[in-house]
Amino acid sequence: ELILAFESSCDETSVAVIENGNKILSNVIATQINSQRRFGGVVPEVASRHHIEQVTICLADALQRAQVDYQDLDAVAVTYGPGLVGALLVGVTAAKAVAFAHNLPLIPVNHMAGHIYAARFRGEIEFPALALLVSGGHTELVYLKKPNSYQIIGETRDDAAGEAYDKIGRVLGIDYPAGKKIDELAHQGKDTFDFPRAMLKDDNFDFSFSGLKSAFINTVHHAEQVNQQLNQADLAASFQQSVIDVLVAKTMHALQQYPVKQLILAGGVAANTGLRDALSAVMKKKHSDVSLLKAPLSLCGDNAAMIGAAGHVAFRAGKRADLSLNADPSLEFDWITQ
Ligand code: ATP
Ligand code: MG
Ligand code: FE
Repeated sequence: ELILAFESSCDETSVAVIENGNKILSNVIATQINSQRRFGGVVPEVASRHHIEQVTICLADALQRAQVDYQDLDAVAVTYGPGLVGALLVGVTAAKAVAFAHNLPLIPVNHMAGHIYAARFRGEIEFPALALLVSGGHTELVYLKKPNSYQIIGETRDDAAGEAYDKIGRVLGIDYPAGKKIDELAHQGKDTFDFPRAMLKDDNFDFSFSGLKSAFINTVHHAEQVNQQLNQADLAASFQQSVIDVLVAKTMHALQQYPVKQLILAGGVAANTGLRDALSAVMKKKHSDVSLLKAPLSLCGDNAAMIGAAGHVAFRAGKRADLSLNADPSLEFDWITQ
């Protein structure tokens, strides 16, 4: 089964051709990072315009690289939310056009489900599973009882982990998106600042990163006022250790209440090497019976391959959209089959 997938929820235009949900024939990604960088974040209007310019180029490229034609395809999958409405609309419109012109079924995909199913390129997902989903806009623990069933058991009350990385990056003078650079810097420093670990003792699976962000910014500003030079690598290492400690501790807590076969790590922040290593170590020590499936490093960020992987599961389960499909910027996991 061949699925053509579109992703355009934020600042990556991506088109992929996926075979049987877990084999990448092509995965073309056009990122706008270079033009968004000077704004220090993503400007929605700029994003939409880039998607419009890129989507047909990416489509032609994806088909060519995969060496397939429209007649070979079995379905078209597309991200319809959550994300920026104008950005989403470009992918949704392109997918609808292809589905209509070539009489193919249209599969609506939730972007966050896509992030989770990126792990499929590493190995099959075993249910029940727990997903630690950490990205630029979300930080959630999701319980997956079976395919297409998503239950958010905990989430951030304020900033997402990736958002916190990007915001403290600005204070350090690191370009957007700052996660990767801070990760690299953290490996050269030590946890000397003892930043807060929020909600660690609370009996729930929720997160909060705004206190950590404020503590970080206050520390840097205070040092500036008294003309004190702070070690940037130690600052990065201390921030990162706080994020990792909280993510790992909450995940361990969740595993006690939700016994699963597998733990999935996914989302843009799942590319964090410190987090990947910490989770591997603690799982080996405490839950050697639970398999740990980490999204491949190259597929943690936004891409259409992951939409094809999630789209394939939905396709098999008979989920379809018609040509009235619209973008839903605040889409939630809605397709819970009990
Ligand atoms: P969402 O998926 O919630 O809609 P998004 O699509 O904008 O948001 P992603 O593309 O999934 O977010 O992830 C991007 C985020 O990941 C950015 O905040 C970026 O700083 C962060 N990130 C990328 N690499 C790393 C890393 N190595 N360490 C920490 N954070 C990282
Ligand atoms: Mg992005
Ligand atoms: Fe994303």
